[in-house]
Amino acid sequence: MSRKTWAAVDDYIVEALFEADPALDAVLAANRDQGLPPIDVSPAQGKLLSLLTRIQGAKKVLEIGTLGGYSTIWMARALPMDGKIVTLELDPHHAKVARSNFERAGVSERVELRVGPALESLAALGAESAGPFDLIFIDADKPNNPNYLSWAMRLSRPGTVIICDNVIRDGAVLDGGGHDVNVVGARAAFSFIGGDKRLDGTAIQTVGAKGYDGFAIAIVS
Ligand code: SAM
Repeated sequence: MSRKTWAAVDDYIVEALFEADPALDAVLAANRDQGLPPIDVSPAQGKLLSLLTRIQGAKKVLEIGTLGGYSTIWMARALPMDGKIVTLELDPHHAKVARSNFERAGVSERVELRVGPALESLAALGAESAGPFDLIFIDADKPNNPNYLSWAMRLSRPGTVIICDNVIRDGAVLDGGGHDVNVVGARAAFSFIGGDKRLDGTAIQTVGAKGYDGFAIAIVS
């Protein structure tokens, strides 16, 4: 199986199961026009985040790593009217594009975007007692995965769902002796989830338009 087939099957999934979504198409177009890297989740993954938000009955969501807000919008739309998603982004240009995307998608009221290093934003959220969040999506700089998981625990409650993206990395996660900081970050996520008795988790390998990767998902007890 090739990446071309995985992408074609992703297209098939979208065509068979999704309504046309000009607003989300416009988000991806704006991201491209503004020079953002195409590292947002795929449509099928975005829909999964949306379904998980609904399955969880989440009212408060935390996202670490906004980019242009594609995944944020999928989750924001799945929230109830009084729900809220706080999303954290380091890069001011990404944040500017995301804000305009939130406006266009009509979700600005439900999104709070904080700009700066996520570790600082997380400390601020902790100081404000902003938690507990019902669902936390970690998708930023991978070396900080253990720090983000640590903050996720502090900002969670029993029953909070934590999702950590890009933990398979073309299978490179097997390379325990390597020096790729992203692989080290992926393995650190596994160590954290496997080593914290309050977390019960698994990881799912995925193929699709974004290649071969996967995500870890865990629930806090
Ligand atoms: N979740 C987004 C989506 O699917 O649409 C994709 C997020 S992208 C993979 C990762 C983002 O994390 C980038 O926009 C990057 O600028 C941001 N980022 C990297 N390091 C960060 C940090 N220390 N604090 C906050 N954001 C950071």
